[in-house]
Amino acid sequence: MAESKPIFERVAVIGLGLIGGSIGHAAKRAGLAGHIAGYARSGETRVRALEIGFIDSAHESAAEAAKDADLVILCVPVGALGSVTAEIEGSLKKGAVLTDAGSVKTAVIRDMGSHVPDGVHFIPGHPIAGTEESGPDAGFAELFDNRWCILTPVPGTDKAATEKLTRFWEGCGANVDVMDSKHHDLVFAIVSHLPHLIAYNIVGTATDLEKVTQSEVIKYAASGFRDFTRLAASDPTMWRDVFLNNREAVLEMLGRFSEDLASLQRAIRWGDGDALFDLFTRTRAIRRSIVDAGQDTDVPNFGRDPTHKAPSGKK
Ligand code: NAP
Repeated sequence: MAESKPIFERVAVIGLGLIGGSIGHAAKRAGLAGHIAGYARSGETRVRALEIGFIDSAHESAAEAAKDADLVILCVPVGALGSVTAEIEGSLKKGAVLTDAGSVKTAVIRDMGSHVPDGVHFIPGHPIAGTEESGPDAGFAELFDNRWCILTPVPGTDKAATEKLTRFWEGCGANVDVMDSKHHDLVFAIVSHLPHLIAYNIVGTATDLEKVTQSEVIKYAASGFRDFTRLAASDPTMWRDVFLNNREAVLEMLGRFSEDLASLQRAIRWGDGDALFDLFTRTRAIRRSIVDAGQDTDVPNFGRDPTHKAPSGKK
């Protein structure tokens, strides 16, 4: 993983939260960049990023950070990617690679694409790694280790530039896959966007119930509810932008999901135990495949310490 020579001499990271911070840490760990220039909207974040040390210099504007950079990575919410690209358009140098970390790809190509000057290699990307935390303190060097990073280059993209970006992500610990943006959006609608929507919905429903008090929901959360609350604690701005920008694919998957939910409802109503048992057996096997693929741990209860004491001292 450790590179003897930087892959990119000057890297600009725009957006210094969980993803931008983790890229900075991972690039430093492996010596992938000669210099990392950073920009975030607030001065507070810029100062904090410098203090933590995952960037080498902080700048007053995105354009200033991007100036002379060989690789520019935009790690801002999906809804801000178009306007940030417009801001830096004039300072991107010829031959630079421009990429992003946005969780949606087709809308991002639409929003960023028109601002990319000739001679700049625009290669959209999406690291498949995250936590429910955000901000500059949330990032860490290991976030991308053994996780996937998807690149969705448009037809005609320079091969050498894609290979160089691939090496950068590999240096950050990730495995790289290349995919068409529409296909990406459909795949992540089901594996990421819909699960978050379901989590937001179930947590919302449980907290709005009147017969079951909120204190009961929290007290008995270990029976299943708490596993949804991790997803439902994810950043509201990021997820609002994901749903607004991957509308078609999410609605398509939501349609399928609603039909399947209706058939589960029917099975429960008619006491069709075989249908329930068959589905639950198939889903258990999927969990096994995820563990076998190294994408989760097989430690029971996601590795939570069963002796963990609640703040009150009770288990
Ligand atoms: P985050 O922790 O909230 O950080 C976002 C950063 O962007 C902050 O530094 C913020 O600055 C900055 N920012 C926001 N709006 C901006 C604007 N208009 N102009 C300039 N800077 C702006 O978010 P994140 O989790 O790192 O997500 C960043 C991107 O990665 C998103 O596109 C998301 O879809 C994608 N992604 C996220 C995950 C995940 O699990 N979180 C996983 C894969 C991909 P301030 O601190 O000054 O507000």
